[in-house]
Amino acid sequence: MTRVYNFSAGPAVLPEAVLKQAANELVEYKDAGMSVMEMSHRSKAFDDIIQSTETLLRELMKIPANYKILFLQGGASSQFSMIPMNLLKDNKKVDLIHTGTWTKKAMEEIKRYGSLNIVGTSEDKNFSYIPKIDKSKFSKDASYFYICSNNTIEGTRYTAFPETGNIPLVADMSSNILSEVMDVSKFGIIFAGAQKNIGPAGLTIVIIREDLIGKSMDITPVMFNYAIHAENKSLYNTPPTYGIYMAKLVFEWLKQLGGIPGMQKINEDKANILYNYIDNSAMFKSPIAKEDRSIMNVPFTATTKELEEKFLKEAPKAGLVQLAGHRSVGGMRASIYNAMPVEGVKKLVDFMKKFEMDNK
Ligand SMILES: *Cc1c(COP(=O)(O)O)cnc(C)c1O
Repeated sequence: MTRVYNFSAGPAVLPEAVLKQAANELVEYKDAGMSVMEMSHRSKAFDDIIQSTETLLRELMKIPANYKILFLQGGASSQFSMIPMNLLKDNKKVDLIHTGTWTKKAMEEIKRYGSLNIVGTSEDKNFSYIPKIDKSKFSKDASYFYICSNNTIEGTRYTAFPETGNIPLVADMSSNILSEVMDVSKFGIIFAGAQKNIGPAGLTIVIIREDLIGKSMDITPVMFNYAIHAENKSLYNTPPTYGIYMAKLVFEWLKQLGGIPGMQKINEDKANILYNYIDNSAMFKSPIAKEDRSIMNVPFTATTKELEEKFLKEAPKAGLVQLAGHRSVGGMRASIYNAMPVEGVKKLVDFMKKFEMDNK
């Protein structure tokens, strides 16, 4: 069996070079005489790993010194609860832009602890665009302003972020962290589950401005308290050690490719190849507003349900897998994260062209 092109939305493709390096170091890591998986999280060898991982991420994203980086577990979904528990101690208002499945989940948690002001929503058109927002709808005194920067299921992304002034902007970047240059200083919190653009599932990264730490609600469980994790440098309990090591390898790989600016160029090229073909095809269509299209997750449809089924049956035979749309939206979706090589996208487009010709 050779490696296929894996268009899964997550857990997703990892760079082949990284997997090979991990394989080489799997049984004995450097001169440690053991695998990273077997190492104490308090050992010198692991301390070097977690520190380099943090340094690399700071460098890649140009994270200012007044931000902490936390390596947690619980997935992006735990952050839906952790954020309100840590930011809604006194003032319980949250502004939010509703752009799909993942903001819906965040909304459900916010409502347990505070009051929600929906500043904009694209629900009227199946979340196929990013709403234009009217600043007059902003609460003057919200504790934070919440968005999802890239909507993994629906296929939209922000190309400009709301200007929230003194209100901290909190972004779920699970599916587009490290994919394009972003100014971290515009955000109060950025968080991401690792399994889309960083590494294997099990690691969640939180980048948080220091002044937002230490204001948790009294009911906050210790494991949900940012202050505890920040004070203990993510070693309050056992962190996902192997996931952190894999993230380090991915960050090194990214640095070699020219860091985020280099990666962004490659990502834009990949997305252009795919969207250009879709926009000129008589069979395939993108349901997403052009200006808001994600360059990570590309949903598309075919003219009939039967053709979609046939497409999804034949693609794996060509080595192109995990192309079904999310169960809530149907159709197809190609996730073309950082680790998807341009050759994979070209092969997908060649397959789509041939499929279109053969099924006229
Ligand atoms: C995948 C995803 C999540 C959920 O992540 P888990 O790690 O499974 O909790 C949340 N938000 C976005 C934008 C995602 O893509």
